[in-house]
Amino acid sequence: MSVYWSERTRLLEPYIPGEQPKDREFIKLNTNENPYPPSPMVVEAIQKAASGLRLYPDPFCTELRETAAAAYGVKPEEVFAGNGSDEVLAFAFAAFFGAKTKTTGAAPALFPDITYSFYPVYAGLWDVPYRTVPLKDDFSIDYHDYLGASGGIIFPNPNAPTGIALPLEDLKNIAQAAGRDKQVFVVDEAYIAFAGGEGVASALSLVQEFPNLLVVRTLSKEASLAGLRAGFAIGQQELIQGLFRVHDSFNSYTMDRLALAGAGAALKDAAYYKDINRRIVCTRDRVSAALRALGFRTLPSQANFIFASPPPGCGKGGREFYAALRDRGILVRHFERPRIADFVRISIGTDGDMDAFLEACGRIAAGG
Ligand code: PMP
Repeated sequence: MSVYWSERTRLLEPYIPGEQPKDREFIKLNTNENPYPPSPMVVEAIQKAASGLRLYPDPFCTELRETAAAAYGVKPEEVFAGNGSDEVLAFAFAAFFGAKTKTTGAAPALFPDITYSFYPVYAGLWDVPYRTVPLKDDFSIDYHDYLGASGGIIFPNPNAPTGIALPLEDLKNIAQAAGRDKQVFVVDEAYIAFAGGEGVASALSLVQEFPNLLVVRTLSKEASLAGLRAGFAIGQQELIQGLFRVHDSFNSYTMDRLALAGAGAALKDAAYYKDINRRIVCTRDRVSAALRALGFRTLPSQANFIFASPPPGCGKGGREFYAALRDRGILVRHFERPRIADFVRISIGTDGDMDAFLEACGRIAAGG
């Protein structure tokens, strides 16, 4: 605490990102980065754009939004672009949740008790009241919990850190119910490129039907560009204009020229990404089966990570298991939180990374 901090700053509870260690080489399976390099077209586009750095970038991201619109099957006016989806999500909390008038209090926004841990942080930043809704015992979302009155709804699909996805039909029911109350439903599709379960699909196909539905995407995972910072929101124009109002009250140039160029090139190389992401899904399913064979509990993941708890007989909880892997040079993520303290989240790496991980798991589970 500091005497120089405003009341707002004192009350913040900032998000804690996963470790990015500099002191030692780790097999890094802790922040859901894509293990494969970005498309060569991205690097080429960034190199070309570097010569224009003397000039400010386009504050409206016009060209990138046109490219994204073509990729997502919508109009450019239905796309917002930002500095990673974290920024887009922060703007969405400010634009759509919380009190809509100064005189009437706001109903709480809803999100699951176990979900992306940045949501309560944004709520704290913008003074948005919220209520967390417990996941079912099997860690899935019950869509019925989101059909009543609220001040808006947000969750990732697939959810994080569970990796479990809801079918499109359930999302449609939520969008419809929220729409009747003129509330916004934000579907955070950070991991949708790795999903393919029965009935599971991107909510992009519902955007034309529901003016209250906002779909958020990121290039961090599906396009190997976590270091570039590019995220999008796709929705009808009223929602996109709401995001621009927040953006233009904050920083006109959230996306720099290099990010604009790199993100555009990535969106144009769908074939490259389809191939690497298919490989990640194969590796994920192989590693999940191998973990189960070792006695681990794994949740049915449709993301580029697995949420797993070590075999009860091995005498290690989630924290000890995380520490034992770290000692062996493998970083995963552990959340010291109710209901999930026994689990670790394992991002999917290359097949070589995952073989080393499985070997370490075998030894640790056997008490070694
Ligand atoms: N949503 C979810 C569910 C995430 O797990 C993440 C990654 N931490 C993000 C959004 C943010 O991704 P980025 O800011 O890199 O686009």
